[in-house]
Amino acid sequence: MAKAPAPSEIDWQNLGFNYLDLPYRFLAHYKDGQWDDGQLTGDSTLHINEGSTALHYGQADFEGLKAYRTKNGDIQLFRPDRNAARMQQSCDRLLMPSFPADKFIAAVKSVVKANADYVPPYGTGGTLYLRPLMIGIGENIGVHPAPEYLFTIFAMPVGAYYKGGVKPTNFTTSYYDRAAPHGTGQSKVGGNYGGSLLPGDEAHKAGFSDVIYLDPATHTKIEEAGSANFFGVTQNNEFVTPKSDSILPSITKYSLLYLAEHYLGMKPVEGDVYIDDLDRFTEAGAMGTAAVIAPIGGIEYQNQLHVFYSETEVGPVTQKLYDTLTGIQFGDVEAPEGWIQKIAL
Ligand SMILES: *Cc1c(COP(=O)(O)O)cnc(C)c1O
Repeated sequence: MAKAPAPSEIDWQNLGFNYLDLPYRFLAHYKDGQWDDGQLTGDSTLHINEGSTALHYGQADFEGLKAYRTKNGDIQLFRPDRNAARMQQSCDRLLMPSFPADKFIAAVKSVVKANADYVPPYGTGGTLYLRPLMIGIGENIGVHPAPEYLFTIFAMPVGAYYKGGVKPTNFTTSYYDRAAPHGTGQSKVGGNYGGSLLPGDEAHKAGFSDVIYLDPATHTKIEEAGSANFFGVTQNNEFVTPKSDSILPSITKYSLLYLAEHYLGMKPVEGDVYIDDLDRFTEAGAMGTAAVIAPIGGIEYQNQLHVFYSETEVGPVTQKLYDTLTGIQFGDVEAPEGWIQKIAL
């Protein structure tokens, strides 16, 4: 595998969301009941036993967060404590040993600092995407928690999700479910994604950007998209997002619930969103770290496309939410207490 080009050779304006083998990643090993200190390493290949539970039984979870370059050249993280806490919850669900939150944040910072030249310049919209990952490894064949674990954090520069402005896309519903009612939908685990590849592929082939999954028990309520939570805006200035035990608690979602209330004067609502009651929304979108907000032009359900604001233009409230959150992440808008952590360079 070729190493990433030197930072001076990267076309920052045209970065996509692609793997790059950067100079450094963090790697820690859990054995005999404890984590070692971990270290930065140049080796992007993991050497693991063929019996590793991650390979057979899905004992694997992950996180996704970004480092942002500010106007004055600083580098900062957005709410990494929330990723640390969520990964601990995912680990608990899969009987994996959690990685201590303070060490998680320190390791994220060490990876950003070691690859600092790969954090895209301010103004390009690019960021350094960080991927913490834990897998069960070691000699094993039965269905048991693994005897050993690896925790790694690797990074890569990614481009602005939208070049030339935020644009809506259409989504569709599916016969398939993403997660079971009391399954692992709340946890950021690899297994949730394997099953989403087929419905996602069918949606893409039909011309939609992704699936809006319905609640697995009744198929009457919106749950979330493949890797982003759903919101709708009502005429009464409400910011509405589904509440369910089988959706992934998005940090972007909880941040936008707060900003809608405290920065935009909206009423935040977490509750049921029925798929046959979309007329209540004037705008809608999908929320997650990758795109921040992907505005939803329309949702196809039972062969009919329900259009919210417009299939081609982003709505004014969605744009304002997007500008506020990205403004905070890039350091241009004052953040609520505790949301930003600077990297000491
Ligand atoms: C990661 C993820 C999200 C988005 O969460 P953020 O913390 O906002 O990035 C939403 N849904 C699923 C299924 C996810 O895995």
